[in-house]
Parts: sequence; structure tokens; C-alpha cells
Amino acid sequence: MSYMIETVHLSRHYQMGSETVYALRDASISIKSGEYVAFMGPSGSGKSTFMNLIGCLDSPTSGVYRLNGEDVSQMKEYELALVRNREIGFIFQTFNLLARASAIDNAALPLVYAGASREARTARASEVLAEVGLGERLHHRPNELSGGQRQRVAIARALVNNPSILLADEPTGNLDAKTSEEIMALFQELYKKGHTIILVTHDPEVAARAHRQVLLSDGVIVEDK
Ligand code: ADP
Ligand code: MG
Repeated sequence: MSYMIETVHLSRHYQMGSETVYALRDASISIKSGEYVAFMGPSGSGKSTFMNLIGCLDSPTSGVYRLNGEDVSQMKEYELALVRNREIGFIFQTFNLLARASAIDNAALPLVYAGASREARTARASEVLAEVGLGERLHHRPNELSGGQRQRVAIARALVNNPSILLADEPTGNLDAKTSEEIMALFQELYKKGHTIILVTHDPEVAARAHRQVLLSDGVIVEDK
């Protein structure tokens, strides 16, 4: 059995002067390709710390993290950046779009870092924007789009490199109930197409849409079902 994500006793401590903050402690989890997992827990329970490790934005204090069988826990920052660009699509609560760029240029951004030609970038970005229902909004800027449409652009950007994993930190945190519902329906569609999705949420209704719920408390996984 091979897992896409495998963490073994993963820990992340922060040194704050003479005090040590145990943000994540001994977290062991295995996630297969195609799973849809929600990370839950109160504020300060370690969700973002765990997400940042899984997303290769940070390195553990101790423990092992294997991504697609490759041990990334000891990698240097430049190696992590390469893995991140290849394997992970990020979606944020605040969308993090470039205000002055069109939907197509925002969605294409990871391909710039990957070194694709302008022609290839435009073609691929149009394709993913159509996939998230924005085929008619290619040249709109963020301020010409609704909140839900902005999040769709961000999801298109996350998909554009064909990553192994979609990582979303509170993706509906800035959306009203109806728009959240639309975005959750889109995640459901992506899941059905075979994408691996991991999201952080404190909304039980959002978490219930995932097929697995992992509960963190004080930096420890206390439930996984
Ligand atoms: P959550 O996302 O569940 O709200 P976090 O992962 O952000 O929780 O934080 C977990 C714990 O680690 C908290 O006690 C937080 O204060 C601490 N922490 C997070 N990031 C840092 C940091 N860069 N430096 C020091 N402590 C941190
Ligand atoms: Mg957080």
C-alpha cells in the first residue's frame, strides 16, 4: 500500500525566548491519492502548522514526512520550493490574487514559475478557468468579480500545474452561506474527478462534506474518522 502523504511522529516546536510552544506533536497520518480530508479543531490547535508542513511551506522539528514516497522532511528550502510548485495547489481564505491582473494571468501564475511559454500558459489557464465555471470571465480583474468568482480564480490557479494535492485553508471563511455552498459543490466535483483535497475549516458543515475528518486539539490528533 502506498500513500500520497505519510507523516510519522511529525512535530513542530517554536522557541519563544525561554519558552517552547508545541504547535504540533507526534502527528502520524496517512492519506491516499483521491481522498478528501477535513482538518478541524479550535483556534491554536495546530491546523495551520500541520497544513504548512504538508504543503512544504515549513519543515518539522522532528519526525518524518513522505510525499509520494519521497522524504521531504530534511529538504533545504530551495528543494522544498520545487516540490511545492510541482505537487501542491494552495487555496487561501483571502484568495491572494494579484489585484491588477486578469483572471487568466492570475490562474497562469504558477506556470510562470514553472517556465512555461506564454502560449502554453494562456491555453492551460483558459482550460482550468472553464473547468471552474469562469470560461466567460477570462479577462476580468478581481475587483470586477464577485467573492465566489474570485475564489474560483484561486482554485483555477491551484489546479493549473496539475498538482497531486489541493490544500485549502478556510476556503469559505470569507464567503456568504450561498457562495460557500457553491464553492463546496465545486470541491465535490473536483473530488469526483479524482483530485486529492485537504482542507482546514472550523465550520462543521463544511467538514461534513469531506469524507474523512481529522480533529486536532493542542497540537495532537485526537480523532480521525
Ligand atoms: P490553528 O491554525 O489551529 O489556529 P496554529 O497552527 O496557527 O493553529 O498554531 C498552533 C500553536 O502554535 C499556537 O499556540 C500558536 O500560537 C503557535 N504558533 C504558530 N505559529 C507560530 C510561530 N511562527 N511562532 C510561535 N508560535 C507559533
Ligand atoms: Mg490557522
